[in-house]
Amino acid sequence: VRRLAWLFALLFVACSPASGPAGPPGSGNSAASSPAPGGTNNTSTKPGASSASSVYKDFGALGTMARNYLRASPARRLVVEVAWVAGLEPNQGALDHLSQVLGDVTDKPGGVSVLRGRSFASSKSSYSVADIRAVESQNRGRFSGGDTVTMWIVYLNGSFADQEGALGLAYGATSAAVFRDRLNDAATALILEPAIERAVVTHEVGHLLALINIGYHSARDHEDPEHRSHSRSNKSVMYWAVEDLSLKNLVGGPPDDFDADDRADLEMLKSA
Ligand SMILES: [Zn+2]
Repeated sequence: VRRLAWLFALLFVACSPASGPAGPPGSGNSAASSPAPGGTNNTSTKPGASSASSVYKDFGALGTMARNYLRASPARRLVVEVAWVAGLEPNQGALDHLSQVLGDVTDKPGGVSVLRGRSFASSKSSYSVADIRAVESQNRGRFSGGDTVTMWIVYLNGSFADQEGALGLAYGATSAAVFRDRLNDAATALILEPAIERAVVTHEVGHLLALINIGYHSARDHEDPEHRSHSRSNKSVMYWAVEDLSLKNLVGGPPDDFDADDRADLEMLKSA
C-alpha cells in the first residue's frame, strides 16, 4: 500500500514516469545534518509522538492532510518548517509570500508560521524520492500533533532523479522539495529567480492542499487532462509549467497565487 501511494504521488505530481519505489523514511542516508535551531512551537519532535494519537498522518499519501490544513479544527495552527542544503538558504520574500497565501486560504485561528529549520550538507547531486525521504528523516524537526499541523519543505541542490526538469516535488501528505539549482536554470533576463522561488514553493504547497483533484473531484472543470493534478489556466500557480524548466516560457513570469477555481476547491474541502 505504501509503495502504491508513493507511485501515485510520483505519477501525479512530478508528471514523471514512476521509476523506483521508495523506501520508508530512514532507509539510507545521503546527508549529514547539523544541529537545528530550536523552536518554540508545541509540535511533536518525533514522528508519531503526538499525544493526539494518530489523528494526523504526516507520512500518508499526498493530499490526505489537506482538510487538516484547511480547517480550524482539530488543528488550529499550521507550522511550515523549511530546511535547506547549506548555501541554498530560502529567500525570506518567498517564505513571507507563502505565509501570506496560507494565511489567506486556511482557517487557522492560532495562525500560520513559516519557520526556518535545519541547514545540512549533502554530497548528492540527484535525488530520488527515497533519497529525499532519507534527507527528511534525518533533518525534519517538527511533526503534526495536538492543535498543530505541520508541513516540511526542503530546498535541495542538483535535480530530481526521475525528472531532470522538475523545479519542485510534493511527495507525501506533508512533504515537499524545491530544487534550488534548477530555479536558477529556469531564470531569464525577464523572469528572476525570486519570482520563480515564490511560485514554485506555493505550487508545491498547493499539492499538499490536494490541488487539483488529488483525492477529491472538483465541481469546476479546471484540471488539465494533459497534466494531471494541474490547472488548465496559466494564471493559476497550479499551472503545470510552474514546476518545470519550461516555466521560462511563461510570458510575464509565473503566477504565484491560486486562482478562483483553486480557491473554490479549497473552500469546498473545508466543508465537505
Ligand atoms: Zn505540480
